[in-house]
Amino acid sequence: MFLGSNGLNLRSHMKNKVFELDAQYVLQNYTREPLVLVKGLGARVWDIEGNEYIDCVAGIATNNVGHCHPKVVEAIKKQAETLMHTSNLFYLKEQVELAEKLSGLTQLDRLFFCNSGTEAVEASLKFARRATGKREFISSEGSFHGRTMGSLSITSKERYRKPFEPLVPGASFVPYGDSDAIRSKITGDTAAVILEPIQVESGGIRMPSDNYLAEVREICDDNGTLLIFDEVQTGFGRTGKWFAKDHFGVKPDMMTMAKALGGGFPIGALAITESVAAKIEKGDHAATFGGNPLACAAALASIDVIIEEGLVERSKELGEYFTKKLLDLGKDSIINDIRVKGLLIGVELNGGTKEVVEKMREKGVLINCLLEKILRIVPPLVITKEEIDMVLSCLDEVLR
Ligand SMILES: *Cc1c(COP(=O)(O)O)cnc(C)c1O
Repeated sequence: MFLGSNGLNLRSHMKNKVFELDAQYVLQNYTREPLVLVKGLGARVWDIEGNEYIDCVAGIATNNVGHCHPKVVEAIKKQAETLMHTSNLFYLKEQVELAEKLSGLTQLDRLFFCNSGTEAVEASLKFARRATGKREFISSEGSFHGRTMGSLSITSKERYRKPFEPLVPGASFVPYGDSDAIRSKITGDTAAVILEPIQVESGGIRMPSDNYLAEVREICDDNGTLLIFDEVQTGFGRTGKWFAKDHFGVKPDMMTMAKALGGGFPIGALAITESVAAKIEKGDHAATFGGNPLACAAALASIDVIIEEGLVERSKELGEYFTKKLLDLGKDSIINDIRVKGLLIGVELNGGTKEVVEKMREKGVLINCLLEKILRIVPPLVITKEEIDMVLSCLDEVLR
C-alpha cells in the first residue's frame, strides 16, 4: 500500500498513540523495545509503520513453526467455529488426542494441561510433594522456572525473589552442573530435583556436561527423590531434538512444556510417569482452561507442522550452518563464546549487547539479550538460509 508522506505520518501517529495508551493504562512492569508489531509471517514480522524485520526473538522461543503458519491458523479457525471451551467437567476429544501425541513425543505416560510455563512448574511441585510425601526441592543457581510463588521459590535470581519473600519454604540451590553438590544437599525430605536440561533464561544458555543429567538421575533414584525437567523453553525442536533431554538420553519423572507447544497460542503441559500419576487423587489439582479444545487444536496443528516439515532436523542443521558462518566472520576479538544447540543460539560478547540489539533492530533484525552480555538468537525453525545470511551480514556490520 502506498501511503505517501501523509500515510507515514498517520502510521507514526498510530504508533505514538499505542505508546501513550500503554504508558497511561498498562502496568509498567515490562521494558519494551520501541516497536509496535502488527503482523507476522514465517520468520518475518512487520511493525505498525510498515517496517519489516527478521524475527530472531520469536516470541521468546515460542513461534517455532513461524508466525501465522497457515495450518495452525486453519486449525484455530475451524476449532473456534466448532467449540472453544467447556471446562474439564466433561471429556475433551482434542485434549485426549494431544495427550496421546505428547506421551509419544516425551516418552512419559500421562499429561496434565494448563496455560503457561509457570503453571506447569507449579503443578510439578505439587505433584512431587503429593507423590513422595516429602517437602523439599533442590534447584540450580542460574535457574529460571517462572514468576508465580511456587516457581519463583525454585528460581535463583535474587532480583526476582527478594521483593516477594517469604516464598514457599524448602527450596535450596546448588551450582549447575555439579552432581556432587546435589549428592551432598539431598536429604530424606527432598521431594524433587528440578533442572532445565539446558539453562537458558538466567543461565545465559548453559549446557551440562555429557553425564551430568544421568548422574543426577542416579542420585535421585538412590534417594527416592523425583527428577523434574523444565523444558518450557527448550522443547519442540528448539535445540535440534524434540526436547533437550533427548541429547542426553535421561528420562525424568516429570517434564514441563509451554512456550512453543501451541505454535503461539497459550498452552502449558506437564508430562508425568505412571508411578507419579498413581499417587495423584481427584481434586488434587485443576485448571479451568487447562487443555481446552481451542488451545489443544492449536498445539496439535503445531506439532503436525513440526513433524511434516522436519523442523527438528532443520533446527539442528541450521544451527550448525549459523555457527559455521558466524565463525567465518572472524570476530574473535568481540565474541567471547558461542553456545549453540540447534536454533538455540547464544553469542557472548565482551559487552555492549544493548547497543547491538538496537543497531540490529535499525537494520531490520530482532534479537534480545541475556544477562547483559549474551545475544539470544532464537528464530522460528522455519527460517531460511537466506534469512540467516541476512542476519549474519547485519551482525557483521554491527559487530565492529
Ligand atoms: C519461560 C519459562 C518459564 C515460564 O513460562 P511462562 O509461560 O512465562 O510462565 C518457565 N521455565 C522456563 C525454563 C522458561 O523458559
